[in-house]
Amino acid sequence: MKPLNQLCRPCIWRLRPYSSARDEYSGHEATVFLDANENPYNHPLNRYPDPLQTEVKMALAKRKGVRPENIFLGNGSDEAIDLAYRCFAEPGVDNVVAIEPTYGMYKVCADINNVEYRPVLLDEHFQLNAEKLLSIVDDHTKLVWLCSPNNPTGNDLDEDQICEVLRQFQGLVIVDEAYADFSSRRSFRFRLDEFPNLIVLQTFSKAWGSAAIRLGMAFACADIINIYNKVKYPYNINALTQREVLKLMADPIKPSCWVASLLEERTRLMKRFAELVLCYEVYPTDANFFLARVSDAQRIYDQLVAQGIIVRNRTRVRLCENCLRITVGTLEENDTLIDALKQMQL
Ligand SMILES: *Cc1c(COP(=O)(O)O)cnc(C)c1O
Repeated sequence: MKPLNQLCRPCIWRLRPYSSARDEYSGHEATVFLDANENPYNHPLNRYPDPLQTEVKMALAKRKGVRPENIFLGNGSDEAIDLAYRCFAEPGVDNVVAIEPTYGMYKVCADINNVEYRPVLLDEHFQLNAEKLLSIVDDHTKLVWLCSPNNPTGNDLDEDQICEVLRQFQGLVIVDEAYADFSSRRSFRFRLDEFPNLIVLQTFSKAWGSAAIRLGMAFACADIINIYNKVKYPYNINALTQREVLKLMADPIKPSCWVASLLEERTRLMKRFAELVLCYEVYPTDANFFLARVSDAQRIYDQLVAQGIIVRNRTRVRLCENCLRITVGTLEENDTLIDALKQMQL
């Protein structure tokens, strides 16, 4: 790995970050707060939230088996994705490499930041080939985007190939594990000490059932986390979200129950889907959704919409021609989908 001062954008490396009132005094002993131009009324919402979310990170560190200094919290994983560009990729100069097909935000954020985006096609089993990916890396490649389990294909990427990219690539490798709670694979967040160039993304939006609170996590070495903290908005995680996630983590049984029943439902739904005449193939998955190749994705999609059932049409994505991406819902929702598909006149 190149040293971080070579990977970081020069303007960010030099940056003296904004220092908020809560950065300069963050103790608990004081009782009179006249430093932040807040309103003394409307407690508790009148006060700015903790800019570094110390309490949340302590709870999360325990829960996730990592150190608090290895955690960044963002307004969804999307903030952590955008920050990777803003911290490390110089617009108009640097480039990034990503697997294809994958999550659309990596490309959108590249475009917004005017950074060249180089996609590498997965193989016919939606698997990563490290050698092929590394062959399009050059001196200006700062980031490699991997997503495992991958969206929209659903499968875990081959662990050995991910490690090969982590070892060979001189820049930063982001492994997006938004769906890791549904996979039996060990998270890469436990391997931060082995790979200093690794950033692992996870989220509260899927297994934790909390997409509305907008909370994403990045796990990385403390030096990378410190760069992220310099660039983020000072109060990027609002007080309501911080309070809600502490409540959520106090009851860790609930998300694991949700995951268990979704995995059970996933097996049942995929089996029934595969039996449909319109279904050509159901692809193996390690997430809370699956990809299926069907006879005519656009027509099936349109007919489902007309009945108020929305799935994701991925037919215009490379390698996903005539594919629909189906999220696993409740038993009733899944039955509604299957019944509609059974009745369908094509
Ligand atoms: C859903 C999803 C996310 C989650 O994004 P949030 O901003 O945390 O809601 C991240 N990555 C991938 C690949 C996803 O599919």
